[in-house]
Amino acid sequence: KTPVPSDIDISQQIVKEVGLLPITEVGKQLGLTDEEVIPWGIAKAKVTLSAREARKDVPNGNYVVVTGINPTPLGEGKSTTTIGLAQALGAVLGKKTVACIRQPSQGPTFGIKGGAAGGGYSQVVPMEEFNLHLTGDIHAITAANNLLAAAIDTRMFHEASQSDEALFRRLCPAGKPLSPVLKRRFDKLGIDISSRSLEELTVEEKGRFARLDFDKDTITWNRVLDTCDRHLRQVEIGVGPAEKVKPRENPSQSIQHNRSAGFDITVASEVMAVLALARDLKDLREKLGAMVVGYSKAGEPITADDLGCGGALTVLMKDAIMPTLMQTVERTPVLVHAGPFANIATGNSSVVADEIALKLVGPDGFCVTEAGFGADIGMEKFFNIKCRYSGLKPKAAVIVATIRALKMHGGGPPVTAGKPLQKEYTEENVELLAKGCANLQKHIENAKKFGVNVVVGVNKFKTDTDAEIEVVKKAAMDAGAFDAVLSNHWALGGEGAADLAKAVEKACQANDESNFKFLYDLNLSIKEKMEIISKEIYGADGVDYSDLANKQIEQYEKSGFGRFPICVAKTQYSFSCDPAAKGVPTGHRITVREIRSCAGAGFVYPICGDIMTIPGLPTRPGFMDVDIDTETGDVIGLF
Ligand code: ADP
Repeated sequence: KTPVPSDIDISQQIVKEVGLLPITEVGKQLGLTDEEVIPWGIAKAKVTLSAREARKDVPNGNYVVVTGINPTPLGEGKSTTTIGLAQALGAVLGKKTVACIRQPSQGPTFGIKGGAAGGGYSQVVPMEEFNLHLTGDIHAITAANNLLAAAIDTRMFHEASQSDEALFRRLCPAGKPLSPVLKRRFDKLGIDISSRSLEELTVEEKGRFARLDFDKDTITWNRVLDTCDRHLRQVEIGVGPAEKVKPRENPSQSIQHNRSAGFDITVASEVMAVLALARDLKDLREKLGAMVVGYSKAGEPITADDLGCGGALTVLMKDAIMPTLMQTVERTPVLVHAGPFANIATGNSSVVADEIALKLVGPDGFCVTEAGFGADIGMEKFFNIKCRYSGLKPKAAVIVATIRALKMHGGGPPVTAGKPLQKEYTEENVELLAKGCANLQKHIENAKKFGVNVVVGVNKFKTDTDAEIEVVKKAAMDAGAFDAVLSNHWALGGEGAADLAKAVEKACQANDESNFKFLYDLNLSIKEKMEIISKEIYGADGVDYSDLANKQIEQYEKSGFGRFPICVAKTQYSFSCDPAAKGVPTGHRITVREIRSCAGAGFVYPICGDIMTIPGLPTRPGFMDVDIDTETGDVIGLF
């Protein structure tokens, strides 16, 4: 339709007028059996991990990542392009295709950013179910995260008032069989309980088992909720008269000096990062149990399993480990799974969703997966962290660019929300655009370092002119892109992305996955790895560390965390640490303020610049547009 209706109007019109394919049918078209699909209503279903196991001998499909130039307020349309490309590969080229995207957080959906189902005639439907609740995975993460938070504070509370002997008796009551998670702790401490009864343990052994002895200044575990609620960034807990322990105060913002409590948004929880990287239930169990929540007074890391919590966390997450099957407006299958923050975590959907998709589509098919933020962050983490843990080898990267956003990188004026766009963006301006293409070119060069073929997808806006499109295509080819094509999937759906799909197919045929390589070796030190990312990807001259960061690096290298991949927490708006530095900044240095670890998920994350782990709401948040038609039950105003 012209003009293209709003995202929610398109979604509701498709659902009502065209109708959804029952989700079990979407599964059947992918060859999934009834046992492998667990319906969650008619529009959504969980897919069991046994679907991957049952097809372990099927060769993987072509693995394609969709990424973008450095984001600007003018938008690039990575999710929209992911869905449009999948629709074109499926419906237009007739290839078995699954799109893999993240589940959005409800915080931004009701705040500034809006939903993440794609847009126009390239979106996942029903978009209100996609954007709100989905199948409850984010709620499960909230529950798991907060159970662990309660376990920490409660344990400190009990340890403060009880002797070692009393603690031990309560943790291991006589006559009650030892639970597997408590047995894990004995094993970890090297206390032999196979040939002795628990009563025979020495006083020293009982004390070592029962007293975690938290140094409360080192606690790194926040509570979470999936709402943009800035007033919870720092809170004082345990102030009631019954909680005898002096409360933790003065929160989490500088984590290693954390003397108190605070909240993060759920998608910034390490539990979310774990979900995105876990391979199966066993791996999920190990990773959740290994999450470090703080240190003892002797400087030993304390884990979720030390608190006896790893088993319960996994139980809360047992459905969340299964990706959710949905469909696009053109009935292309989509797997929605995980949604880790892209700054302090990987910003990519899950390993298991991609693995299942690659098996379901088979060797001639395609798994199109999306990486968040710009390619300097989302794509780099996709390759160096996600693909390293999964062992999967991508063949091609699609870099999404828009002409308006490239003009901003070329020096176009800042835009103000609610005000009309300046003429630089609405009228032809080849000069500004040509300058801004440098940003795209640097991302192309970066992607090629990993051995993938790069296709540039120019996401078409109404105002783009032929001359401008030619400028972007030429700049892309000059920088070594395999191909660069215009894509009009937002207005036309899969048909509009036919050229993009053909280019991606050719890019995959022309590449062998054995060409794929990582940028750094895990055995290098944290600083060596950071130096490589900063110089090769960000084009920085070098890296500077605060005293705190230096101390933390030393501690992490000692605890064995030095072997982890690096997950840089940096602004998405620039290659540098300065969000205002558009284009391709040169002569800049990366400053690491502090460095934190996710020992369960398996990475360390240097913090470069100001990073917010729970956003606030603007004066006029998105929720003010949202309502319900009480006659029909339809959701109104959700973008
Ligand atoms: P990203 O994944 O890069 O954050 P999205 O794909 O979520 O971006 O798109 C953000 C918003 O921009 C969506 O509401 C979508 O409808 C809109 N959008 C995307 N592409 C276009 C386009 N070509 N024309 C108009 N609006 C678009």
